[in-house]
Amino acid sequence: MAETKKTNAKKTNAKKTYKFKAELSQLLQLIAHSLYTHPEIFLRELISNSSDALNKLKFLQLTDQKVVDPEAELGIKIEIDEKKKFFSLEDTGIGMTKDELISNIGTVANSGTLKYLEKIQKEGKEVDGDFIGKFGVGFYSVFMVTEHITVETRHANPDSKAYRWESDGKGSFAVEEIDRKERGTKISFFLKEESKEFAEDYRVKSIIKKYSNFVDFPITLNKEKVNTVEALWRKPKDDIKEEELNEFYKFIAMDYNNPLGHLQLSLEGSVNFKSLLFIPEKAPFDLFRNINEEKGLHLYANRIFIQDDAKGLLPEYLKFIKGVVDTEDLPLNVSREVTQHSPVLAKIKNTITSKILAMLKDWSENDIGKYEKFFKNFGPLLKTGINSDFTNKDKILKLLRFESTVTEKGSLRSLDQYVAEMDEKQKEIYYLSGENRDIVEKNPNLEYFKKNNIEVFLFVDPVDLFILPGIQEYDGKKIVSIDKADLDIDDKKSDSEDKEELAKKPLKSLIKVFKDTLGDKIQDVVASKRLVSSPVTLVVGKDGLDPQMERMMKMMNQETIPQKKILEINPKHKLIKNLSLLNIANDKDENLRNSILQLFESAELLDGNLTDPTDFVQRMVEFMEKSTK
Ligand code: ADP
Repeated sequence: MAETKKTNAKKTNAKKTYKFKAELSQLLQLIAHSLYTHPEIFLRELISNSSDALNKLKFLQLTDQKVVDPEAELGIKIEIDEKKKFFSLEDTGIGMTKDELISNIGTVANSGTLKYLEKIQKEGKEVDGDFIGKFGVGFYSVFMVTEHITVETRHANPDSKAYRWESDGKGSFAVEEIDRKERGTKISFFLKEESKEFAEDYRVKSIIKKYSNFVDFPITLNKEKVNTVEALWRKPKDDIKEEELNEFYKFIAMDYNNPLGHLQLSLEGSVNFKSLLFIPEKAPFDLFRNINEEKGLHLYANRIFIQDDAKGLLPEYLKFIKGVVDTEDLPLNVSREVTQHSPVLAKIKNTITSKILAMLKDWSENDIGKYEKFFKNFGPLLKTGINSDFTNKDKILKLLRFESTVTEKGSLRSLDQYVAEMDEKQKEIYYLSGENRDIVEKNPNLEYFKKNNIEVFLFVDPVDLFILPGIQEYDGKKIVSIDKADLDIDDKKSDSEDKEELAKKPLKSLIKVFKDTLGDKIQDVVASKRLVSSPVTLVVGKDGLDPQMERMMKMMNQETIPQKKILEINPKHKLIKNLSLLNIANDKDENLRNSILQLFESAELLDGNLTDPTDFVQRMVEFMEKSTK
């Protein structure tokens, strides 16, 4: 923070001007000129800052520390004047010292914020007002509705002095000492013409109701109390109206939508707590990135607010859950550090986890539509629980759903459904992985399975491959990729004609020519049992890496040992039969060799692994030239 000007060097309480950090100036520019979809959220942000400040004060008082104005009621007072387009919000919270005023309201908490905003702007998207709160630029959102802000504050410490902070948000702010008796912070400003609605009584009331109805402190608007100060989670289940639940969810999750479902818990015994938990209707725009940035559950100790980001209460894979936990088992003055390693919280986490998994199981059996909606949004994250939560692995496995060859695109099947409907003689569970369903469905390796009505799971979610090592088996059956060679395919299913074909001498000779021609491009060439309508396919050796996994590792720039594959040829295919005849006539035939190379490279192309298409295209031109002669 550069101090640029001293108006009066002798007087310590004179007004001084400070420059915003470059990053913040840029951010303010963006905020003032962005098209926010919901400028009204500035009010939510101010109230939330005040509520934090009031909570901090409550703590001081619990530990009997002396504060300015000990009798002052903890609350938030809003005054508006429609005619003057004036707005002010004052709290009796902890206030700010001069240093805090300069540093807290002069920096951006999250360094990714600016980058994110710029990106969104470049892409021409509208910035959702919701992001403001999440990225810690709350206070500045006020510049959406005004051009000049005044903050007056006095810290609760009995020796504190009071200060005024002023800024037009354009590059600098000024701070001076003032005479203020009351503890706490007051923010005031005149609204821009286009934002004058925020000085209308009805409008402001409805915004408070919408976002801040459950703030733990009374909010008054021109002296009239507006919010419901109530610990909803302590009310008996039957007394809570759905409307209240929805409102509470919107408040706690900062969401515009109603939740998909909720769970109310009241436990007494080895651990005592009450809790109200919600599953959102929609996933955040990037489910995985948000794992770390997402706030945790709100934690209360005996109705006293402790923190709104208690991360230790949910496993990573359930981080999308919002809600409140209120426990009698924690001391009130518990610190953040303690909550991170508290055995009480660990116990609560275990209970919450198993209750949530039980609720999901119930949905999956009794409210399938709801469960599918849930799984489409949060399934990818839930799946990762397979690798991280050993205790609940079996429960999570039962909750997983995958695309499958027996369903339409988009509808999913469970492992239990697969096992229940598979042929008695089938010993393994089959899957095929790939980028998306359309690509995977064209894979020639599926032909045998389709022809014989054997279900194959289509693992098209990138997460599927990461969880595979954790589910090598289900219900005593191995989970096997049909991409891999040496499948335990029931031989009775391939007709006797095939078997004869496979044993014939000319085929063995053709395979030898294939091997000679392809040399070390390939691990092996074998006659295929699985192909029906395609002439050839590439498969991975028994111990080879799943091809999709290989592609992913390449994408993440991880070293992979180049995998040579096995080429399977289809003896029943007309083209292979033709090649066999050519081979009998002359095993040095140029057409034969070129066709083999062409077939191999087509298979590579289908696999997404043909690195240099020049020869492929050249050969194709030659073939066409001959056939059109
Ligand atoms: P965030 O609240 O996400 O940290 P803000 O930009 O909204 O970001 O606020 C920055 C900081 O300014 C807060 O963390 C807090 O320390 C301080 N602050 C803001 N409003 C108040 C207030 N009403 N009382 C006391 N401190 C406040």
